[in-house]
Amino acid sequence: MRKIFGILAVVLLACALPGLALAAKMQVAVGVAPVASFAKKIGGELVQTTLLVPAGADAHTYEPKPSQMRALSGAALYLSCGLEFEEAWEGRLKSANPKLVFAHLDAGLKKLPMPEGHEHHDHGHAAAAAHGHDHDHKAAAAHEDHDEMDPHVWVSPAQVRQMSAAIAAAFSKADPAHASVYAANLAAFQKEIDALDAQIKALFAGVPAEKRGFLVFHPAWGYFAQDYGLTQTSIEFEGKEPSPKRLAAIVSQAKAKGARAIFVQPQMSQRTAGTIAKAVGAKLVVADPLAEDWAANLLKVAKGFREALQ
Ligand SMILES: [Zn+2]
Repeated sequence: MRKIFGILAVVLLACALPGLALAAKMQVAVGVAPVASFAKKIGGELVQTTLLVPAGADAHTYEPKPSQMRALSGAALYLSCGLEFEEAWEGRLKSANPKLVFAHLDAGLKKLPMPEGHEHHDHGHAAAAAHGHDHDHKAAAAHEDHDEMDPHVWVSPAQVRQMSAAIAAAFSKADPAHASVYAANLAAFQKEIDALDAQIKALFAGVPAEKRGFLVFHPAWGYFAQDYGLTQTSIEFEGKEPSPKRLAAIVSQAKAKGARAIFVQPQMSQRTAGTIAKAVGAKLVVADPLAEDWAANLLKVAKGFREALQ
């Protein structure tokens, strides 16, 4: 009897060692933090995620570090949402790890065209020529054959609902033994998504059309705007600060549209934003499209925008 307890204790101890416990988990790689949070919702304790783009880095032009390439050598799945860098690096990641399966979460999504000034093919603008746009778009150049679509799909609860189903399907295919767990987690997460969606819809109910515009530095909120009947106007042009001339045009346009809110990413300089806010008569709303606490963050952004309308 005592011997059995001894063996049990050894087994329990072994399970408690993090290295051994990790070995049993499915290794899943993701590009951006919100997708990591979806993977955790669906996979729970069964998956271990590796995040490529750290907080504050550019999610469009990111280049995985050699240490990350090594970390991905044991990954079974890559959950891609179709960011430029993910498309550009898919081949290299797969040849470094032939067992890596890419799940394209954006495959079934209806996408919006990239907002004006975001794509790098626009050579008509004086502002673009003045700033130059040679170094930022290596990744984008990899898929210049088709029109660029807005890749920020994760800011929309409706899109995330679909992406979650794709994640559950990918997990079940890679690990059929736990398919029922993934299905149950998916159902629970979709309930949370629906509740969040209803909450945000309620926040914007009754807001008149002329107050539904907002300015944003980086146009990452297009799908959020679409879901809730809002209008996004981008300040940034070609991934850079606008020229004074363009800035003046944005300010008068925003005034005419009655924009009351300017979304700013927490890691960005708020000086220009403050200047614009003053000129337009709008309030700054801190809005991080890459926050990991996805649901709480979307609600926070929605509430911030709603408060700016008071
Ligand atoms: Zn972006």
